[in-house]
Order: sequence, then structure tokens, then C-alpha cells
Amino acid sequence: MRVVLWDTRKLDVAKDFAGGFGVGQYAGRGGLPGMIVRRFYKRDFRPVAMVYGYLAAVFRSLGHQVEYALERVPSGADLYVFNPSLITLSLERAAIQRTLESNPGCRVFVVGAVANSMPNAFEGLAVTIIKGEPEQLLWKLDEALHATETTVDVGKVKDLDTLPFPDWSPFSPRKFRIGYDFTKFPTALIQQSRGCTLKCNYCPYIILENATRVRSPECVAAEMRAGIKDHGFRSFKFRDPLFGVDRKKIFQLAELIGKLPRKVQFSIEGRLDILKPDILRTLADVGLTSITVGIETPSEDTLRKYHRAPIRDDKQREFVQLCRSLGVRTVAGFMIGFPEDTEESIRYVLRYAKAVNPTFANFNVVTPYPGTEFYEQIKPQIATFDTTKYTVYTPVLKYKNLTADRVAELHAKCFVSYYFRTRWLTANGPLVWPSLRWLGMGRTEQPAVAAAPTHVHQGPPKPHGPLQVIERPTNDRANACDHHKASNDAA
Ligand code: SF4
Repeated sequence: MRVVLWDTRKLDVAKDFAGGFGVGQYAGRGGLPGMIVRRFYKRDFRPVAMVYGYLAAVFRSLGHQVEYALERVPSGADLYVFNPSLITLSLERAAIQRTLESNPGCRVFVVGAVANSMPNAFEGLAVTIIKGEPEQLLWKLDEALHATETTVDVGKVKDLDTLPFPDWSPFSPRKFRIGYDFTKFPTALIQQSRGCTLKCNYCPYIILENATRVRSPECVAAEMRAGIKDHGFRSFKFRDPLFGVDRKKIFQLAELIGKLPRKVQFSIEGRLDILKPDILRTLADVGLTSITVGIETPSEDTLRKYHRAPIRDDKQREFVQLCRSLGVRTVAGFMIGFPEDTEESIRYVLRYAKAVNPTFANFNVVTPYPGTEFYEQIKPQIATFDTTKYTVYTPVLKYKNLTADRVAELHAKCFVSYYFRTRWLTANGPLVWPSLRWLGMGRTEQPAVAAAPTHVHQGPPKPHGPLQVIERPTNDRANACDHHKASNDAA
């Protein structure tokens, strides 16, 4: 069988992020400084979504011919697979239509987060919606091909070690580049685990499952070894939503990474309270260069309202400083544009980001993902259901205290004001441009700023109002979740 994996890179989409719903890229408002920030973000050539690497391997291991089609629709294939993102959904629908018209008799599978959460988006098209994890086609392809229903639920992979390694060869892997995490390229995507057990109610990563599955360290290291040998990968971006959930396996993996035939760089995404200093030091020793974490907002009330347990802000600053001292970049996600946000609350997020001072601060506009509890919770406050706007950089809600334009202006201000600062440059510049070390920059970072805003929760939850600022954090509340994003991960 000849199988085409169809894809688009239009609208600056990165399909692998936001749990597979995809994100766009910062459009660079805010004059020349905003354009400079955008240019930095645009340098990358993001790898194709992991699911396509896996599907290429799955179909080939079943003896089928696999082809990657970017934008065009090749004729004559037996099966076409689409993995739509929210922002490219209308492009994908149009491509499916063209495919069906020009290839009568072909089969079309639609896979991924949009297919799972919004099957109605494909109504009127003669497609098969593959619910669950598409890698299950390794065992269930015949069932899906012979299904007479529009939707086939293939379930989840029980044992991740039984999957073949992703096959990147159809996707020009030598071009893969993620510059905010690495200085060495090409970059591969990889996973040590899937899923998350936490309950941030806006999170697209827990729609499919609210549990974790972990691969064996030997299997992960073997995949890295194969990627180095077959494609010359020099960096690996771990796409686990919750890296480090199995502490013992992380130390084992670190040991195996240290024994790879070539020193590689790698990045992870995780929670501050899981990634303890001993883990950070061990991983940094064997090539860890970047960590993505979600800080979201310093407002404890907002975090609690959306079921995200807060963490002490001094821990966040200590974490960033420790990473910096180990030569590890930090990519922190911040969320602005909750329905109840005010000018002051957004400016407060910016001030807090500056106080924590991560290498990269990614300001994401709150985006409701279909299938999340958050989406249902705030449905009446969603201003547009035009998913092409769900880039995480575009306001899409009705705001109680602000216009959408004002949220967009404040969002642009956050980016520009964050990066164009001496303290950002001196602390983080050498991590981004190592040659700056020769100028003596980055050797020391001032301790946490005394006037850093710290929100102290007082009394019962209240709307996101003025936030109390003190000089030293005093709340010693138990923390939990400190990881990412309704947002994207990084850029
Ligand atoms: S935002 Fe991060 S920590 Fe929270 S549920 Fe999602 S993956 Fe887990």
C-alpha cells in the first residue's frame, strides 16, 4: 500500500505543541523591538510532529511505502493521513477535499488531538477519524481500513517500549533546528514518557489520559544512538509533558546518555518540584542544555481557580538561578489574558517574569482547547470559535476588564519589555550567545530582586484583582504543579 502523510507548514504552525493542537508563532507587534523578538523565534526549522515519525515507522514496519507531502496532494496513493492543528484546520479540510476529489477510491485517515476532540469538524468528508493514539495502527490497521463507521477508537499504546523508533527519514531531518534550546543541530524529538497525573484544567496534554506511561531507559538511549548514527542528530528535545516522573529511571537514563558515542545536547519539560538539584546536576553533566517549565502567573487565586497548585515564588527563582549556574537555559511559560485579567494583573505577570528572569519568557495568551474542562467552564466567554486564531498569541476570549486589542498590546509589551533589559542580557545573554562570556558577562547573577512582586494569598479565592507585593515571600504553602502551559512550550 502507498501511504501519504500530508502536512502543512503554513501560518507558522508547530503542530507538536499544545498537546498536538499546535501553536503559531509570535507575530512581532511592538515596532522594531517586537520584530527583533519575532526574528529570533523564526530562525528555527521545527521538526515534524512526533506522531508522523512514529507513523512512518509503523507503516514501513508493516511493509507499506511511505511518502511525506508538504502542501501538495500527490495522486495515486491508497491511503492519505492528515494530522490537523487548530490553526491550520481550514487548510487541512481543503486539502482533504482535494484529495478525495482527485483520488476517488482512496482512504483518508485523520489523526491527532483535533480529530480526537473535534470529530464534527470533518463532517461531510468521507474520512475515517482515528481516535486514540495513531501508533496503535501497528496492531489495528486492518481494523481501521475495514471499518464502516466514521470513527474508529484504536485506544492507547500499553507498552511504549514495543513501538518502533520514529522514522524521520521522509522529513528532511538534517534541517531540524530548535535554537532556543540548543546550539548544536540537527535536533530530534523524543519521549521518555507520555501523559501527566496533574489536573490543570486548561491543559491539552491530559485530555487523552490523566496518567503516565514510562519507557525503559535502555530503549530511549537506543533510540538516541540510532538517531545519532542514522541522521546525525546532535540534540534531542524530550517531549514528555512531565519529564522525570520516575526518578530512578532518570538517573539510569542519564548514565546511558553519558555513554553515547557522541556528546549530545538535550532539553526537557517538567515541574520544578520534581526536578530536584541532584537530578539537574546529573543531567547537566551529560548534556542537558534547556528546561521548559510553566510558571503561568504569580496569582495564586488564578492558579487555584483553574486547578493548578501554586508553588513558592522563591523556589522558582532559585530553580532558574541553579539552572543558570549549571549552564542550563530555562524557558518559562507565562499566561496572560484570563477572562478576569486587568491591566494591573498583566503588568504584574511581566514584573514577576523579570524578577524570576528565565533565559526565555514565553508569554502565551490564554487559549481554550476543545476537550478540556477549562473550555467548558469558560465557553460563554469565548469570543471566537474561529480556530485559526488559536495560536496562543491572539486574544480569543471576552475579557471583563479589557478589550481584545488592549490584551494584544499588553502582550506585545510583555515580550519587548522582558527582553530589552540589561539584567536579562547580562544574566542570560551568555547562555544564548556563549561568546559573551569572554566579555565577563553571566558569571554572576544578582540574587532575587528585593522588590520582586510576590503574591500572597489571603482569604478565600477572589477574582484576579490587585495583587499584594511584599519584599520576601512568607507563604510556605505546599506546592505541587509547576509545569507549563495552556500555552505552548517554549516558542
Ligand atoms: S500543564 Fe503540565 S503539569 Fe499541568 S496537567 Fe498539563 S502537563 Fe501536567
